[in-house]
Amino acid sequence: MKRRKFFKYGLGGLILGALEPVKAAEFITNSHDQEIRPIVLSTWNHGLAANEEAWKIIVNGGEAIDAVELGVRITEADISNRSVGIGGRPDSTGHVTLDACIMDHRSRCGAVACIEGIDHPISVARKVMDETPHVMLVGDGAREFAMDMGFSKIKTPISEVKKDWKQWKKEEKEKSKRPEINHENHDTIGMIALDTNGNLSGSCTTSGWAYKMPGRVGDSPIIGAGLFVDNDIGAACATGLGEAIVRIAGSHTVVELMRQGHSPQEACKKAVDRIIEKHDDLTGLQCGFIAIDKNGNYGGYSVYNGFNFAVKTIEGANLEDAPFDRNW
Ligand code: ASP
Repeated sequence: MKRRKFFKYGLGGLILGALEPVKAAEFITNSHDQEIRPIVLSTWNHGLAANEEAWKIIVNGGEAIDAVELGVRITEADISNRSVGIGGRPDSTGHVTLDACIMDHRSRCGAVACIEGIDHPISVARKVMDETPHVMLVGDGAREFAMDMGFSKIKTPISEVKKDWKQWKKEEKEKSKRPEINHENHDTIGMIALDTNGNLSGSCTTSGWAYKMPGRVGDSPIIGAGLFVDNDIGAACATGLGEAIVRIAGSHTVVELMRQGHSPQEACKKAVDRIIEKHDDLTGLQCGFIAIDKNGNYGGYSVYNGFNFAVKTIEGANLEDAPFDRNW
């Protein structure tokens, strides 16, 4: 693979008259003499470490689907993370139920929702995709499938998380109100990647809304909401209040907007605009999208300030603040 210097901003934005220049990764020429701009993009600052893992696959000519699975496993295994994997916060009854999905360049996909006691839901989702005729398994069925596939059981919540939950429980009893989502109690990792063969894939994994109602599932494991990939166009994923993202089929909407010719950032902004239009009350309603297109252009956008995303390209690693519609 030859590495070549390329200007940082693609032409797409200029052609469409976009206000923002289109951000693009640097390109390489692959063994088929194609110019590809490989990139890994993921939500929030935990994405930096996850991207590094994913990049090892990408830079060695591996497939994006493997990169996005192995990348987010880093976050799932990080017990200091309170919104993804083993260290995730529980539902209101103290059960840590995890959601995840994965999608590849052939539009194959797999998902698990409300799975408990299994440390790598993203890999269970991958197994659903690879080993079953189904797209999604939930609850006990997902857990039994995972055990059949050789995943080991883990005990959650971990003790620190259990302590927090007990404290929350005490306070909630006093306030007798439902949990609220805010920018401190949620932080899904969604990752999208373009490999050196020019193929796109994505993954998304979360413990969801902290102290949610038992059985609640958000956008993250829902193909089209938390994640969507169309190898002809681009890939997108979401974070934030899942209920709002599901209402507009968020990630699918972003990809369809790119199909209509919008840059990744414009497409994310338009999806955010739609969320804003559809909700009378935006109190605490943070949602963010990130997207990449087939040409390695990328972008993100959120309802409120405070959303950032990690970018990894041949040029290096970076954490970027997403543009947003309004201040908290
Ligand atoms: N989207 C996730 C959910 O609603 C939460 C998050 O992104 O933090 O479950």
